[in-house]
Amino acid sequence: MDKPLPDIRSHKALRAAENACTRCPLYKNATQAVPGVGPARARLMLVGEQPGDQEDKQGRPFVGPAGGVLDKALAEAGLARGDVFITNAVKHFKFEPRGKRRLHKRPNAYEIDRCHWWLDIERKLVKPSIVVALGATALRSVAGRPLAINKVRGRIVDLANGGRMLATIHPSYILRIEDEADKRAQYRRFVADLKVCAKVLARTA
Ligand code: SF4
Repeated sequence: MDKPLPDIRSHKALRAAENACTRCPLYKNATQAVPGVGPARARLMLVGEQPGDQEDKQGRPFVGPAGGVLDKALAEAGLARGDVFITNAVKHFKFEPRGKRRLHKRPNAYEIDRCHWWLDIERKLVKPSIVVALGATALRSVAGRPLAINKVRGRIVDLANGGRMLATIHPSYILRIEDEADKRAQYRRFVADLKVCAKVLARTA
């Protein structure tokens, strides 16, 4: 059985604890842990997969190409990035070296589940009304179990461990689509998913 969550009461303490974490092997090759950023308390929390190459170097989530897509979509959905707490399910960058490049590797179930307790602590500190899971890795972590995105995408779902969730795709998925019409359609659907959150938050403001 896993140890109880550490008693961490501030984002500063959480950042330090994440940077000292050795709960899975991913800390060994990454530059640093990438903690969540945003207001100490926020009504909306976005959870991505893991830091990418740029995020690993800069120590901030969603500063690379996927972050650009996310910023644009948030603005179109009427959500200010500054009001949102943004984090990842897995805090260290997992990659495969390929020459001078570092190719993204998807975290496995063990790594997601080991890193999950940091997300639990973030949720306790931030107390969001809605947690948005961006992609399959985030969905597994937020829901606490494997779940197919298509079964829950785009609607508010109650979480067994308290709080509410909306699942959608990860913005990097949109970047990988080659067909322009499909790319635009997926982007529009992504914005529509975020608008569901904006509407719910506006109703309960
Ligand atoms: S990925 Fe998560 S669980 Fe693994 S070492 Fe980093 S912070 Fe710890």
